[in-house]
Amino acid sequence: MIRKIEKYVLVLNCGSSSLKFAVIDVIEQEKILFGTAECLNSKESRIIYQRYRDQKKETILIKNLTHKRSINFIVQTILLKNLENLNSIVGIGHRIVHGGKELNRSVIINNKILKKIQESVPFAPLHNPFGIIGFKEASYAFPNLKNKQVAVFDTTFHNSIPRESHLYAIPYYLYKKYGIRRYGAHGISHQYVSEKFAKIVKKDIKKLNIISCHLGNGGSITAIVHGKSVDTSMGMTPLEGLMMGTRSGDIDPSIIFYLYNVLKMNVSQIQDILTKKSGILGITQVSNDMRFVENHYNKNVHANCAMKMYCYRLSKYIASYFITMNKFPDGIVFTGGIGENSVMVRKITMDKLKIFNVKCDEKINSRTKFGKCAMISKSDSIPVWVIPTNEELIIAKETFDLLKEKS
Ligand code: ADP
Repeated sequence: MIRKIEKYVLVLNCGSSSLKFAVIDVIEQEKILFGTAECLNSKESRIIYQRYRDQKKETILIKNLTHKRSINFIVQTILLKNLENLNSIVGIGHRIVHGGKELNRSVIINNKILKKIQESVPFAPLHNPFGIIGFKEASYAFPNLKNKQVAVFDTTFHNSIPRESHLYAIPYYLYKKYGIRRYGAHGISHQYVSEKFAKIVKKDIKKLNIISCHLGNGGSITAIVHGKSVDTSMGMTPLEGLMMGTRSGDIDPSIIFYLYNVLKMNVSQIQDILTKKSGILGITQVSNDMRFVENHYNKNVHANCAMKMYCYRLSKYIASYFITMNKFPDGIVFTGGIGENSVMVRKITMDKLKIFNVKCDEKINSRTKFGKCAMISKSDSIPVWVIPTNEELIIAKETFDLLKEKS
């Protein structure tokens, strides 16, 4: 019997308090193993993982896990136990949220690239530092994979956004000299679900107009015309746009001057408010989690208000993106933790778009969650789909292809 030569890519997605990992078989295009180390740096920290085939979830509680200890544990215990041979891992793909002014496509990480990722930290201060930690820790854990680690950026997919939507109406030199412009984020997810949508409806993506809504803890929406991003709601940093779990999304910039000049807050307090204490958490005052908002919608005035604000803003963005395509879209796609699971967010948002012939099929909508993929609109509506995202697959493919190209 000829034994298949296994070619796995380890994907690492390091956030501030969580670290997602996946081992992808790039030939079969499937996840062998995946999981999350969550609540890092707290007493509740744990690692939850599952094998693709048996779908059985394992939870391991380890107090005060750091990024470093999580990566060590994932490699030395979970991967070793499940893969038999770590040499089947041929490369490591890192999700890096922001490529800054210069890094506009996937690259093998070396010292020069690492320096550029470091320089782009001000463009994604809550995200990029953790991507750097992930790279450094993976380098210790896999000394044999030196020069086999790839950065895949969430900003790359948005390179195609034209000037009229990527420029801010501020002095031009700020763009020219300092790169202050809209870069967007979640590009890996927007790319994956739009390509998947084209496959599902069996049409050439180059002939489709799609609006993709990635709604997780962070959230963004993208207008995709003929396979290319033409506008997106996140801005220079992932703070602009939709209302999010703890981020404010769009605000009047003068609020910042008011907090500073009148309320005498300092810059880091203001940053903390807008990035960690706003959004759903800011309005409910208790939770950043959409599940809380859904469960308390009818009994708590703040949860009710948070849900209404969230869906109102989302529907306004969707409607405004009809303009970018000069016609109604061929499909609207929901993805991310909220997009894939919140029946209520989808229903309220779709109802607000009724005047544009968006009609929710309530029965299908209510049973579409927990990883299910389905069309949740009526047959005579603009098609609306729920498509679970798979950012890890794109990251693994990019990593594998780039390493093959350079070998
Ligand atoms: P991240 O942006 O960190 O990757 P996710 O895409 O995993 O986040 O989304 C996390 C969010 O998804 C949670 O904060 C929660 O609000 C929402 N969510 C997860 N499951 C459900 C559910 N069953 N119903 C409603 N919302 C959910």
